[in-house]
Amino acid sequence: MTPERYAKIMRVLSKRQPTLTVLMDQVNKPHNLSAIIRTCDAVGVLEAHAVAPKGGKLAEFEGHTFEATSGSAHKWVTVNRHQDAAQAVRDLQAQGVQVLATHLSQRSVDYRDADYTRPTCVLLGAEKWGVGDEAADAADGNIIIPMFGMVQSLNVSVAAATILFEAQRQRLAAGMYDTPQLTPQALADRAFEWAYP
Ligand code: SAM
Repeated sequence: MTPERYAKIMRVLSKRQPTLTVLMDQVNKPHNLSAIIRTCDAVGVLEAHAVAPKGGKLAEFEGHTFEATSGSAHKWVTVNRHQDAAQAVRDLQAQGVQVLATHLSQRSVDYRDADYTRPTCVLLGAEKWGVGDEAADAADGNIIIPMFGMVQSLNVSVAAATILFEAQRQRLAAGMYDTPQLTPQALADRAFEWAYP
């Protein structure tokens, strides 16, 4: 470990946002998973959450495609696995996190109208069927990226990036990247893990 490498680890960790995360509900294509994790790293997400596709497992996280396309971002964003999206939503809420489901419903609002300076989890749905109704109903809010084209939805990784960079914009304006959001102990622990994996 060179001093330069350690300085970079400390610089990155000092910008990490432990109160911003995503929950991927059965996102099953490795290139989408890896693109989302890569965006998480860029925005400063410390830990992400995922529910494995039904009848499957998150093999992608160990797979070659994931490793090759995430640009090694999976090493710097911990992915916590869950069995069930609605239960994961409730668990996050119990920790004081607002969960915003990317879901079209009567209560959907433009994603730019949400307050991402609050502890926030963005719930993302599966490529084929989107966010499940139970998880969407359990969420604190439903958000949508307005679309005016012929196609009804965006690729899930594009939607994730659009929303996470709005969160980054709001958090930059609020000064949340100016001082470490991790406690000194958590920052030191994570620096040790990253420096000596
Ligand atoms: N047929 C699915 C449906 O009805 O929801 C389409 C799923 S879309 C391809 C996959 C995921 O991308 C969605 O669950 C959501 O997380 C995200 N997404 C796609 N377009 C979006 C939009 N306009 N606003 C918010 N999220 C979007």
